Amino acid sequence: MSSKNRPQSVFVVERTERLSPHMVRVHLGGPAFDDFVAGADPASLAATDTYVKLLLAKPGLGLEPPYDLEALRETLPKQDRPARRTYTVRAVDHVARTIAIDFVVHGDDGLAGPWAAAAQPGDRLALSGPGGGYAPSDDPDVTHVLLGDDSALPAIGAALEAMHASATGVALVEVAGPGDEQDLRRPAGVDLRWLHRDATGAEPGTLLLAAAQALPRASSPVQVFAHGERAAMKAIRRLLQDEWQLEKRDLSLSAYWALGRAEDRFQEEKREPIGVIFA
Ligand SMILES: Cc1cc2nc3c(=O)[nH]c(=O)nc-3n(C[C@H](O)[C@H](O)[C@H](O)COP(=O)(O)OP(=O)(O)OC[C@H]3O[C@@H](n4cnc5c(N)ncnc54)[C@H](O)[C@@H]3O)c2cc1C
Repeated sequence: MSSKNRPQSVFVVERTERLSPHMVRVHLGGPAFDDFVAGADPASLAATDTYVKLLLAKPGLGLEPPYDLEALRETLPKQDRPARRTYTVRAVDHVARTIAIDFVVHGDDGLAGPWAAAAQPGDRLALSGPGGGYAPSDDPDVTHVLLGDDSALPAIGAALEAMHASATGVALVEVAGPGDEQDLRRPAGVDLRWLHRDATGAEPGTLLLAAAQALPRASSPVQVFAHGERAAMKAIRRLLQDEWQLEKRDLSLSAYWALGRAEDRFQEEKREPIGVIFA
């Protein structure tokens, strides 16, 4: 099946929660839940970085999900067709039959952030997936290293919650300010450090990179989960492979977004030199 025609699940917003000044949690349920779970690859749902592709139409065009993307390709210019945005499934609640997605509220730019900030019970959202590939190892010898900005906070939170109680390591999470910290359940042996960007005026990812560079090399075996803004992830990839001498198989590392780029453009650039993380 072409990626343009992946099956769409149309969820309904049940409620929203403002987790912090820059993060809103949207609980999505409705009849789509059962088919979504039944149709999912169990490995994707078992991952802690389970993600889905949201389809978002421009407000004002009157388009309603599910979208007939093939037909819309014939009738609408590219900029007016529903756009894909990738988001982590923070939690699946099999009792309430809902999934939770935590959205960074990053201003008026874009589709997904503003959609989530304004979401109301009853709103409908089409999505496809899930995918996903990382889960923290239960091997007690492994040192866990988790590095991310706000966009990776949902996946880092899910990973910390899933870790064995005896797990050890460090998690560095860059957020806008102290009010954006979250009370994450985690093993006592994992040192969680928050980095506050706004007080410094630094570009996203700058503090994360500096803090990662200041870490002593973790003792082997190491399992890394590093995701966030593209420039920071490129530099962190170099640190981990060139200086820490980690193998690619030890790394779950990718760009989740790129400064100044909407996701459509940023995903296209993954096929161009600027978007390539691993040579
Ligand atoms: C596998 C995966 C999982 C992800 N999980 C999450 C998640 O759980 N929660 C989450 O919030 N994001 C997550 N992201 C990142 C999210 O897909 C992007 O941030 C996306 O660009 C947001 O779409 P938008 O429509 O709001 O903004 P876009 O239209 O894509 O971009 C508009 C503008 O906003 C800027 N922008 C985009 N994202 C951010 C940001 N986080 N901070 C500051 N500026 C930004 C862009 O640089 C651009 O200038 C994930 C990405 C991937 C690949």
